Amino acid sequence: MNKINYIKERFFMKGDKIFFERARNSLSFKIFIFFSAFIIMVSSGFILFSAYNDFKAANEDLIKSGETLSSFLAYSTRTWVFAENRAMLSDAVQGIMNQKNVLAVAIYNADNKLLYSKIKGPLKKGQKLENEGAGLAAIPGDKKVLITEGKDTVEFLSPVILESYLHSEEALYFDDIPSAGRENVIGYVKVVLDKTILRKEIRTIVFKSIGMAILFLFLGALVIYVTLKKVLRPLIKLTKAVNLFGKGEFIKKVPVESSDEIGKLAMAFNSMTDDLKGRAAENRLLEEQLRHSQKMETVGTLTGGIAHDFNNILTTIMNCGNLLKLKMGKDEPLRTYVSQILVASERAANLTNGLLSFSRKQIIKPRPVRLNDIVIKVEKLLHLILGENIKLNTMLAGEDLTVIADSGQIEQVLINLCTNARDAMPEGGKLTIKTELAELDSEFRKTHDYGKPGLYAVVSVTDTGAGMDEKTRERIFEPFFTTKDVGKGTGLGLSIAYGIIRQHNGYINCDSEAGKGTTFRAYLPLTESVCEETESAAGIAMLHGSETVLVAEDDSDVREVTRDMLEEFGYKVIEATDGEDAVNKFIENKDRIGFLLFDVKMPKKNGKEAYDEIKKIRPDIKALLLSGYADDIINKERLHEEGINIMAKPVPPTELLRKLRELLDR
Ligand code: ADP
Repeated sequence: MNKINYIKERFFMKGDKIFFERARNSLSFKIFIFFSAFIIMVSSGFILFSAYNDFKAANEDLIKSGETLSSFLAYSTRTWVFAENRAMLSDAVQGIMNQKNVLAVAIYNADNKLLYSKIKGPLKKGQKLENEGAGLAAIPGDKKVLITEGKDTVEFLSPVILESYLHSEEALYFDDIPSAGRENVIGYVKVVLDKTILRKEIRTIVFKSIGMAILFLFLGALVIYVTLKKVLRPLIKLTKAVNLFGKGEFIKKVPVESSDEIGKLAMAFNSMTDDLKGRAAENRLLEEQLRHSQKMETVGTLTGGIAHDFNNILTTIMNCGNLLKLKMGKDEPLRTYVSQILVASERAANLTNGLLSFSRKQIIKPRPVRLNDIVIKVEKLLHLILGENIKLNTMLAGEDLTVIADSGQIEQVLINLCTNARDAMPEGGKLTIKTELAELDSEFRKTHDYGKPGLYAVVSVTDTGAGMDEKTRERIFEPFFTTKDVGKGTGLGLSIAYGIIRQHNGYINCDSEAGKGTTFRAYLPLTESVCEETESAAGIAMLHGSETVLVAEDDSDVREVTRDMLEEFGYKVIEATDGEDAVNKFIENKDRIGFLLFDVKMPKKNGKEAYDEIKKIRPDIKALLLSGYADDIINKERLHEEGINIMAKPVPPTELLRKLRELLDR
């Protein structure tokens, strides 16, 4: 593009937009034009005013100098006028002629006779030196100078006055009254001044002023242009930023170049964009959270459906398996296969129970309970779970945090959380369980996307263990998600906890950082209902006993945990590994044993058979059978009629202890 085209494009044309259209839309152009017009108006007014004043002053000066010159000439030549001495008059006139602006000088006597005259150059058109007018007669009575202004000249007529204050003998004039002051006009002088020189001078002054004004205008316009550019540059940047932002493009901060209104506007814009960016990030987070909770919901529905159907299938498998086993002879070699089927289906049933908890399909028995009481209960059992190198610290809220909950389920949540904490601290560490009151407000909702506003009882479990990275943290509540080795983790602990807490209309969340430990917080809605019973310290004390319990259980892990728990609550325990062993141990210790706690399914003799046998030895012996099999539970009523107490496995520890106490104290 050549230069002309560039200028045309840059300043006059852009596409179909013509210069004036662009100018009309440009604030800077408008301000520029406004100020320039203002400067032109002010400076031309100033020029006119000063030219007028200068002209007026110069004219006055001219008149004054004319008056002075003519008066001076009239005075200095009075003697030579009287004497009509031309030679002497010539000298005086020459002195006046040398003055600036003097065009002509003439001297007349009282009879209007020209005594002497001198002209500088030729007279201009319309100028006359001869006095055609009244001459001396035109001079006013007070004998002052007569001024007549023409187009290009000014004439001054001054009377030549002869005075006499002398004695009559000395005076040139003789009068009747000696010594009286006298004045006599004996002629007049005419001085003509040239006005054109003056006009020329004024013109020069005006031109100079116009030159100054143009310079002033140029400088003013330059200052305005620079100032406008400086003032409007941030505005132009701001406009560009707003346009970009409007298109949804990422923008950096607009520079704040001053602390005036434009600077403040830029600051306001920056804080607005920050705010909007923050909100966009918040929305992204909320979307993420929504997607996550929808995923959990979908997985929950899916697992719940599967678990429910699977439970029915399992019930059939277990029922048929049990029937098969009952009908098989004791020496039947295929019996072990059936037993294995039953053991496997019991494990499958536990799994489906976990899934049901996650999908919130578990039937719960909620009632008003104090969160602190639940923690106290669990704390007793935790010593068994945690081991020696983990220090347990509980910090309970000062107030009653009553919630509507199935305490067994909440215990389960706490045990799951603490078990995970233990696994995260293989080298030992500190585990803190804390209860507190919390108010979920709109701020919490904003950052978490959940949380109906209100008061909540919060229980938190904090460990100083390995912690988790973000990727793990995102998936922990998903069923079957585990980072533990095969056989060590099922990936159900947290999904069960999640399901239980959600079923209680609460929320569970996790704060964790790799290498820095983990905190799980469960929020349960606070209720104003009053607890029906107090299971505080006194309640816990009620679970204690000192009797000797015969525990028969073939699974050594389960047996040991049960033993430890009973001993923790003051009981003495004798262990038996199967039904037959149970009968033998009873016979050996029949005077000490006060209670039988038998698993139903055991090798050699099942729980019921062993119990029946022992009853023959001591009919009033009290017993509780535990079973993981649905059909045992289905037949609970029939067994009860036979005086047999039976509970479904897994029994929450406190429930087991309460039942034990209840049966013992009955
Ligand atoms: P599991 O314990 O059988 O693996 P969970 O659902 O209880 O299943 O836990 C899922 C995963 O969450 C764990 O495998 C572990 O990676 C992680 N996790 C849970 N609690 C903690 C914790 N306190 N510290 C570190 N990681 C944890």
